[in-house]
Amino acid sequence: MKPPEAVRPVVAGRSESQGEHPHERLESQVRSYCRSFPAVFDKAEGCRLYDVDGREYLDFFAGAGALNYGHNAPRISRAMVDYVRGNGVMHSLDMATRAKEAFLSKFESVILKPRKLDYRLQFVGPTGTNGIEAALKLARMVMKRRNVIAFTNSYHGLTAGSLAVTAGESYRNEYYDSAADVTFMPYDGFLGDDVNTVDYARKLILGKSTGVDQPAAIVVETIQAEGGVNVASAAWLRSLDELCRDCGALLIVDDIQVGCGRTGEFFSFELPGIEPDIVVLSKSISGSGQPMSIVLLKPHLDEWEPGQHTSTFRGNNLAFVTATTALEYWESPLFSAEIHRRGQHLAAMLEQLCTSFPNLETRVRGRGMLFGVEIANAAIAQSTSRAAFRRGLVIELCGPEDNVLKVLPPIVTETDDLAAGVRILQQSIAEVAGMTPTREI
Ligand code: PLP
Repeated sequence: MKPPEAVRPVVAGRSESQGEHPHERLESQVRSYCRSFPAVFDKAEGCRLYDVDGREYLDFFAGAGALNYGHNAPRISRAMVDYVRGNGVMHSLDMATRAKEAFLSKFESVILKPRKLDYRLQFVGPTGTNGIEAALKLARMVMKRRNVIAFTNSYHGLTAGSLAVTAGESYRNEYYDSAADVTFMPYDGFLGDDVNTVDYARKLILGKSTGVDQPAAIVVETIQAEGGVNVASAAWLRSLDELCRDCGALLIVDDIQVGCGRTGEFFSFELPGIEPDIVVLSKSISGSGQPMSIVLLKPHLDEWEPGQHTSTFRGNNLAFVTATTALEYWESPLFSAEIHRRGQHLAAMLEQLCTSFPNLETRVRGRGMLFGVEIANAAIAQSTSRAAFRRGLVIELCGPEDNVLKVLPPIVTETDDLAAGVRILQQSIAEVAGMTPTREI
């Protein structure tokens, strides 16, 4: 692997000698990841990215969870190329196409039937936030209630409706977000290990004169990825599900980032054994990085009038084709076990990483192939992410203090590559904290 130079001047991806880059001159200030990862990327394969200078990077970011099966997985790319070569329909609004039919059949036979799940599929605009908007709108319409319960440190997207249920402080602004009709409750663990926050929510929702309106829905991430890799316990999720039944609210699980195998099972709610009324999937559902978002809804909730919730890009046929191929991974009964095996290996190495710096306050948490390495000293966490990038590892920060390294490699990453990434993390922490690890990984 050819590592990037330890320190090199970079202006949004190109060395200073090459002058101002069009990204800087033309692209809005709002751009963000090109600031965290200053390179111009060109090619990608599996868990690797390559920049225009041919430098190789291990990708522990995986398109923020959109590339669970890695970049350009050969079987998925082949299906895409064949479809394009065969003049397959690309855009079709929500007209019926062969590609959509194939996806629906595969989703039913590979995902729904083996899990005995009964959901209708609603195709929405192409990104995760479109799915959340549709889910909230449907819940309010069907339940004839306006209030929605969301949680501290949640992230559900940034359009008006999804922003209203997003707690992340850096995204909120009193002038454009709407706090009306949303009540935030503490997520599992938010009030400490000894407080069951569902009991707290139960008192406020079911009690008299609490000031909390009866909710149409409770929207939750089973693991808050952006919020700092906060893992809700199975017991907490089950009691939340029970609370929904007791207060007549729908349970919406946002599986946009932690669904599609990220936690080891296809859905993140399989382990706790709950069955949400509405599930939103996006990111890795297409398996290729092609935009796609779907809402799964219990059939009795399907009160939409034809065309009542519409959008031009609900029929990305290329995404249907790649999604259908990606679902083939789930035909093997071994696939899930394989994700867990890799995840356990990764977790053990991350624990070793933390114990190798006994003078640093660190903590690992996560499940499946998603882990957060919290470093109490936020400045060290942030410098580690930058130092890791200089050493050839793409890794993002998360959490309200931006002090959690989010370890999010493709779920198919081989253990050697996982080890190489953790080693880079160890070298990076050693460099920025000025500490020598007690034991090399
Ligand atoms: N919900 C969760 C849990 C997410 O992680 C994200 C994106 O990171 C979204 C919703 C929003 O998805 P998108 O960025 O595709 O609109």
